[in-house]
Amino acid sequence: MSFESLGLSPLILQAIEEKGYKQPSPIQEQGIPVVLNGKDVMAAAQTGTGKTAAFTLPILSMFENSKPATSNNVKALILTPTRELAAQINENISFYGKHLNLKTQVVFGGVGINPQMQKLRRGADILVATPGRLMDLYQQKAVKFSDLEILVLDEADRMLDMGFIHDIKKIMAILPKKRQNLLFSATFSDDIRKLAKTIVNNPVEISVNPKNSTAKAVEQVIIPVDKTNKNALLSHLIVENNWHQVLVFCRTKYGADRLAKHLNKKNITASAIHGNKSQGARTRALADFKSGAVQVLAATDIAARGIDINELPQIVNFDLPNVAEDYVHRIGRTGRAGAAGHAYSFATIEDKKNISEIQSLIGEVIATEVIKGFEPHDKLPAVALKPLKAKRPKKPRKPRTDAPNGNREGQGDRKRQPRRK
Ligand code: AMP
Repeated sequence: MSFESLGLSPLILQAIEEKGYKQPSPIQEQGIPVVLNGKDVMAAAQTGTGKTAAFTLPILSMFENSKPATSNNVKALILTPTRELAAQINENISFYGKHLNLKTQVVFGGVGINPQMQKLRRGADILVATPGRLMDLYQQKAVKFSDLEILVLDEADRMLDMGFIHDIKKIMAILPKKRQNLLFSATFSDDIRKLAKTIVNNPVEISVNPKNSTAKAVEQVIIPVDKTNKNALLSHLIVENNWHQVLVFCRTKYGADRLAKHLNKKNITASAIHGNKSQGARTRALADFKSGAVQVLAATDIAARGIDINELPQIVNFDLPNVAEDYVHRIGRTGRAGAAGHAYSFATIEDKKNISEIQSLIGEVIATEVIKGFEPHDKLPAVALKPLKAKRPKKPRKPRTDAPNGNREGQGDRKRQPRRK
């Protein structure tokens, strides 16, 4: 199928050609005509599937010849969990819409609110926003939704994980009832379906397989190691295998910083990316990593979420995630067209339970490889595959605190009350 057959306008097709896309990805092929038809959509699609273009292209196309947004008003609102994702979506919109005369704005926390308020005076045909900052702007009367036509909720599962449910509910309450709704989520858990019921109306459901998150495209290895030897093992692997671009997941911000420092001392260029870094520092670290100026990016899960780095040759779980689903998201970052990616997970004796849960989730036993010279003193026992338990009662989630001043990411300079559960 070609982009031409999807019903997009010629000026959008021109931008797509300039971007170099030859044919639509499955989510674009299925989603674009439905969105152009004005229908609500509920799509199961991860980062890497081309989902951003699946919602931005038809919105741009529909707005091409419509009445421009008036002062402080917004016609399409795209809600996203992180600043990085918001910035990337905005970049994409600017490119895809470069031949159109539309006003696009992006707002997120962690940077000054005044310039955002000023820009919104002109109104925005499309506004990309993180929920907390959007509410701040609304409360300051900098943004109005009476003309809103389209709502996109991107990475809805992440929004819930990050504790944005209250903000989302508040936002829904202030939007006009009659609107088109597009909801994107990597997974459709019961929680997401419950949320979706309150947002989308008779939606067309679309589900696409992510390019990389299947275990088949990614060669996974568990490397047993003592905690005290993790730093040395990582530098050994980087040097030994001549890795030039490796994303390393750490459990804590402090751990990511410490690791980057250690690697730099060993003459391996590394940066850390997490919520305590300023927006500028995070953008710079990501750009340096993408350009190859920095070999290693040490990231926390939240900071890595949503950022557009997928086709990596390898990732390393320096610390295994506490939540098994995060493992699947992490390894989804690796694997390139036609080539398997590699996901290496350092595991200490304390990770037995984590491994068991991850294996149950992915339905396979991950191979183990001990690296010579790094044999652990505390041997990790083989972890057999346990069937996934029918259903565990969910613990209420705590708000995440991987952000400046203990605020969550995407939130910036607003004082928050502790949330009631
Ligand atoms: P996304 O899932 O929206 O984060 O997109 C993942 C990556 O795929 C981005 O780098 C896009 O620029 C790229 N992309 C999106 N659509 C296409 C397409 N039809 N052909 C080739 N690349 C694409």
